[in-house]
Amino acid sequence: MARYTDAVCKLCRREEQKLFLKGSKCTSPKCPLDKKSYPPGQHGTRRRFKQSEYGIQLREKQKVRRTYGLLERQFRNYFKKADRQKGITSEVLLQMLERRLDNVVYRMGFAPSRKTARQLVRHKHFLVNDRLVNIPSFSVKPGDIVRVKDKSKRLGVIHDSMKKIRDGALLSWLELDKAGMKGTLLSNPTRADIPLEVNESLIVELYSK
Ligand code: SF4
Repeated sequence: MARYTDAVCKLCRREEQKLFLKGSKCTSPKCPLDKKSYPPGQHGTRRRFKQSEYGIQLREKQKVRRTYGLLERQFRNYFKKADRQKGITSEVLLQMLERRLDNVVYRMGFAPSRKTARQLVRHKHFLVNDRLVNIPSFSVKPGDIVRVKDKSKRLGVIHDSMKKIRDGALLSWLELDKAGMKGTLLSNPTRADIPLEVNESLIVELYSK
């Protein structure tokens, strides 16, 4: 499947916002966004003109799409599904993205980034309700238990990531049993429960054109 292989820090610089794509580097002084706060490329330092309405909407959509590491086609499919469901489309869209298995693994602290979480899921290191799931887009439902497979419990990348979990940092809609290396999705997150600096209603405006 096609995927983005260029330097991911460029994506943050393009959006002029931290998208947290590289694990611990994102919160360290090594984050390039702290040094270069202009977009990448030859014309990155040029004086910028006022963005059009379309441009602003496009940037908000790109921020969300890039944060969750999705291709345009995948992202649009999520939007179409969200649009068919009851509720506020922009909020339903974020809920669906947050309940992806790779995101839940990342949010629970089993992986330092969504990209690593996706790789761990693909390599069959996680069970959902005691069944092996290797599909990163698998939608975790309230009450589902995500667990590190017994054979994978000694994996360095998972241990290193779990060591960095700070007390009280876990999102309110998740529960974590550190010793058991498992977690539960307690409820569907509300918009206020999703730490994402984005104006998602602009995505609805963009796709409704
Ligand atoms: Fe973005 Fe993280 Fe790279 Fe900083 S280190 S630019 S937050 S991906």
